[in-house]
Amino acid sequence: MRTAFVYSHDFASYSYGPTHPLKPIRLKLTYDLIRGYHLLDLPNSTFVEAKKADREEIALFHSSEYIEVIEEANSGHLPYLQGLPYGLGPGDNPVFPGVYDWSVLVAGATLQAARLIQQGEVDTAFNISGGLHHAAKSLASGFCYFNDIAIAIQYLLQYGKRIAYIDVDVHHGDGVQGAFYDTDQVLTISLHESGYFLFPGTGFEHEIGQGKGIGYSVNIPLYPGADDEAVVSAFLEVVVPLIKAYQPDILVTQLGVDAFRTDPLAHNNLTTHGFSQLVTEMRKFDLPWLALGGGGYQIGNVARAWTLAWAIMNHREGDLPDELPATYLSEASRLGLSDPRLRDPVFRLDADLRDRVLKELEKSLRYIKREVFPIIGAR
Ligand code: ZN
Repeated sequence: MRTAFVYSHDFASYSYGPTHPLKPIRLKLTYDLIRGYHLLDLPNSTFVEAKKADREEIALFHSSEYIEVIEEANSGHLPYLQGLPYGLGPGDNPVFPGVYDWSVLVAGATLQAARLIQQGEVDTAFNISGGLHHAAKSLASGFCYFNDIAIAIQYLLQYGKRIAYIDVDVHHGDGVQGAFYDTDQVLTISLHESGYFLFPGTGFEHEIGQGKGIGYSVNIPLYPGADDEAVVSAFLEVVVPLIKAYQPDILVTQLGVDAFRTDPLAHNNLTTHGFSQLVTEMRKFDLPWLALGGGGYQIGNVARAWTLAWAIMNHREGDLPDELPATYLSEASRLGLSDPRLRDPVFRLDADLRDRVLKELEKSLRYIKREVFPIIGAR
């Protein structure tokens, strides 16, 4: 089993602005924690320095006019009316200095990871900066400028691969779903807080694809408050049988951690225990695996969860003591973080909310089993 960690020390040099919730520094914090646990010098693992994607690679998914606008925005200035039709401007998708450089570096890292897998160099490759699942062909959305996932999947499709995509970010993976909504070559599955309560307001059960793609888009909306129990049972009941029936050549996963209890942007209650179970189930598929990051706005959660994920990918999770390494703790306290241990305390919902969450979930799962399972051949 061979793994690759694709990373750039330049990731943390970019900033969306002091008040923006997406903090690239979380990537350095994750790197620090992974290194603190000595998980970068494993015998079967390689560290790969990320390189920027070029324009042709970005054009695997994005329109050339949109790429040009992002490139122009790289200076940190773009006339308001020029950026508006492309989703750029004050708010979610700011025009910050280096926005193009940042976006091509993230996409380049995901493509390098995809290439290593496609060429059989490694079995699993992880790019923690990737997973920018909201961007569309000519539109920035939800802090995402270039959709590194759609770009990488397009790259892999050129080799005739069948791809299964699993997205556990608390927000619906709308950009990836939209990119492959009418094909049966890509099965997209998103588990997220219901669009009735959260951005981007899509991702309902009945969105199952169109044309040849009918049955190949799967959505599991969760009632706000969903915890480890709800998310893990949805995964076991629906995601596992679908992936087994679809038999993809490559698994692509978006491992956003904004479904965590203490995340400031959403309302779900995932902990490291549920998250680790999800990642362990992904590993058990035993498929070539392109693993990407995603959302996560409490940066201590990000570092702890993705360190656990990387450990699971390398079969080392049992070796990690709960005491955080001293080198990490000093860096974390400098950033105002106070998580004392690697793993969260166990969390249980109160009975009323638990009933509501599970009842709503049951409805969604029943719909998927009735409408989608027969098309994919899942049982
Ligand atoms: Zn998110």
